[in-house]
Amino acid sequence: MGVGMANRMIEELAKIVGEDGVLSTPEDLAVYSYDGTFAEGTPQAVVLPKTTGQTSAVVKLAAEARIPLIPRGMGSGLAAGSVPISNEGIVVCFTRMNRILEIDTVNTTVRAEAGVITAILQSEVEKEGLFYPPDPSSIRHSTIGGNIACNAGGPRCLKYGVTGNYILGLTVVLSDGRILKTGGKPIKDVTGYNLTSLFASSEGTLGLITEALLRLVARPLHVKTALADFDSLANASRTVNAILAEGIVPATLELVDQTAIVCIEEAMHLGLATDVEAVLIIETDGSDESAVFREIEAVGRICRESGARTVKVADTEEERNGLWKARRSVGSSLARKAPNKLGEDITVPRSAIPAVVERLREISSQHGLPIAIFGHAGDGNLHPNILFDKRNPEQWAKVKLMMGEVFEAALSVGGTLSGEHGVGVLKRPYFEKALGPVSVDVQRRIKQSLDPLNILNPGKMFED
Ligand SMILES: Cc1cc2nc3c(=O)[nH]c(=O)nc-3n(C[C@H](O)[C@H](O)[C@H](O)COP(=O)(O)OP(=O)(O)OC[C@H]3O[C@@H](n4cnc5c(N)ncnc54)[C@H](O)[C@@H]3O)c2cc1C
Repeated sequence: MGVGMANRMIEELAKIVGEDGVLSTPEDLAVYSYDGTFAEGTPQAVVLPKTTGQTSAVVKLAAEARIPLIPRGMGSGLAAGSVPISNEGIVVCFTRMNRILEIDTVNTTVRAEAGVITAILQSEVEKEGLFYPPDPSSIRHSTIGGNIACNAGGPRCLKYGVTGNYILGLTVVLSDGRILKTGGKPIKDVTGYNLTSLFASSEGTLGLITEALLRLVARPLHVKTALADFDSLANASRTVNAILAEGIVPATLELVDQTAIVCIEEAMHLGLATDVEAVLIIETDGSDESAVFREIEAVGRICRESGARTVKVADTEEERNGLWKARRSVGSSLARKAPNKLGEDITVPRSAIPAVVERLREISSQHGLPIAIFGHAGDGNLHPNILFDKRNPEQWAKVKLMMGEVFEAALSVGGTLSGEHGVGVLKRPYFEKALGPVSVDVQRRIKQSLDPLNILNPGKMFED
């Protein structure tokens, strides 16, 4: 199938979702041809359903015609999961399914459509004194459906857990158009297989998520945030374990290295010291103000004992926001150093962080390309970003080698390829190496039984 879709099919889709819910001009299709990576591929059409029923009808039509479907939220993914890499198929984009359907303050749950922007859901539940903790840095430009499909995490996941820990139930359109409902409001539910979990991190390959029931917790009333500067990256990474070994579980424990700090400072002018090798951003929170204060004091002491040059606790909300602005802008600030970046998200046992950070620096100096290292060090999740110019074939060849070495570094210490972004297209070649043939075979069988025609996001996760 080439680019372009028969008019008859476009008309059939328009009958289901309305004429304003189908896009097929080259200009419109271009908008849905990429995500947060540099991968590209143009779909034949884009549909924007408004209901689960419409989604089901679209899937039935596509299944009959054997047309691939590529689910999409905001396209912020970092594994090319929502990119139609084969230049065929229909992108099913959920941004028009953006209603919060219910906030239940007694059972502390929220029911929302898949296309709700995560930050909007968070602020709506906070108005009711409740809290939805998962906080990917893309919180303002990613959807609940995309977060579930990738099992997104973020800085706060050290203390609170990842998206998957908050899903109580899902509505999913299966590959034959049937509508599956999983879970519900009961906190405990062991009736049958845990189908809800199956869809967390399924990357759009098993079903189209249209609605989610999410667990909420009480909003922490107090929060303290500190920034510790380290002359040595090795000391900063060792401090991560020293803090946790004292039994303190901060809400966040983030590491940012010098390459990234310099880029942030150049872009944002926040007054960060650029002559340090690394900073840690640490936040403690809770409902007991004095306990939160005691914890940040203890964190400061441990940082100083572990070699921090300075530890600064934010005194005002404005200062705190500045620190988070710095952390959240790492990804975009790196563009100042090189036109392209390949951002990975290896996750390793915490004890291995110092050795893996050292290995990443070796890989960088051996190949002569910078690697900025930052990430959620508290849960062993590092984002080594290789900075390069894709127009330079020599650099691109090096990047491919370096990527393999970065994965090897993680796997050799018992780590994994991805803590947040998923496999998508970019990590497909390493999937079996990371999991082994038996695990991949079991996963293929799950895929085959739920999607026998292979129309749901084909070419993602598995090598064909
Ligand atoms: C600057 C930046 C910062 C980021 N920071 C983080 C971070 O801190 N933590 C983190 O985890 N991720 C992060 N990401 C990656 C990305 O934002 C997340 O993976 C996010 O969950 C993707 O959501 P989305 O709505 O954009 O999904 P998309 O990119 O549109 O899709 C992602 C995957 O989910 C599938 N999908 C989307 N919606 C559905 C649905 N309704 N049903 C079934 N499948 C679906 C797609 O097919 C695709 O495989 C970051 C990305 C950027 C660009």
